[in-house]
Amino acid sequence: METKQTDLVIVGAGTAGMTAAIYALRAGREVILLEALAYGGQIINAPDIENYPGMAHVSGFDFATALYEQAKELGAEFRFERALSIEEREGGKAVLTGKCTYLCSAVILATGAKNRPLGLEKEQQFIGAGISYCATCDGAFYRGKTVAVNGGGNTALEDAEYLAGLCEKVYLIHRRDAFRGDERDVEKLRQKPNVEFVLNATVTELLGENRISGIVVKDKNTQETREIQIDGLFIAIGQMPDNTAFSKWVTLDENGYICAGEDCCTGTAGIYTAGDCRTKTVRQLTTAAADGAVAARAACAEQP
Ligand code: NAP
Repeated sequence: METKQTDLVIVGAGTAGMTAAIYALRAGREVILLEALAYGGQIINAPDIENYPGMAHVSGFDFATALYEQAKELGAEFRFERALSIEEREGGKAVLTGKCTYLCSAVILATGAKNRPLGLEKEQQFIGAGISYCATCDGAFYRGKTVAVNGGGNTALEDAEYLAGLCEKVYLIHRRDAFRGDERDVEKLRQKPNVEFVLNATVTELLGENRISGIVVKDKNTQETREIQIDGLFIAIGQMPDNTAFSKWVTLDENGYICAGEDCCTGTAGIYTAGDCRTKTVRQLTTAAADGAVAARAACAEQP
């Protein structure tokens, strides 16, 4: 197995991880970013970002690609490998991927979060057969069709708006009558004639044989159920972290987030954390970028 030495290993090439790379590179450090999937993290699927300061509109893909190119230009080395574990080594840490052992003085965990499933029967079976977690990736398959979006956060609202521009009808199903996402986006959806809000409702069953043909939703107040015929269901009920591989080194809260404050310190020397994977109240692009800067500065300060 290959062994490689660097100053800083960043696990996760989302907004937090790539921002950390930019700061560490500008501080003169060598940086390797390990990414299990593709650069960009969750934001890469956002159709239109409207709340990043200084950018009235930018697609998630363009935003993530600009960050990627900026980090590359500064000298970041991106390796598309999953970090499996961390070990203590003389003078620092080792991050193991199965392909390579990366020796470094410091590690930043910027692992982000992955889509939360509904946990219903047939959900896994219907992925790619009517179930999607990404409206911008799969929306075009549902042009002129009827779809439902489940969720009440910014992702669900943005997905519903994007799909309303493509589909004949969009049901927006949310378990409460107040949305977690921005009111401005809710208001935009209220104005759309092809969007129907189904509130105080949960999806309790997925219908169909080889692909989804409908859903059963249950009204939380009346307990009544109703069937809605749909061609596609877009699930946008938030994210869950995936930090178990590092639980020997960092404390995880009851939901699996890495316990850390605004200083991005984990309590373990040489291991920092940044972005959505850590305990925090506001998970936004701006706070992910801020974490990246803070974690990189802390990691660089520790290095000789
Ligand atoms: P989120 O804000 O955590 O919202 C998840 C939504 O799903 C909530 O409305 C929640 O309901 C609902 N939910 C959770 N578990 C559920 C379940 N088992 N069944 C049914 N509904 C369930 O997630 P998100 O929308 O993916 O956003 C994640 C973060 O990224 C947020 O901080 C968001 O603001 C940010 N984001 C930002 C942008 C942007 O800046 N342009 C775009 C997208 C996302 P309750 O409200 O009842 O808890």
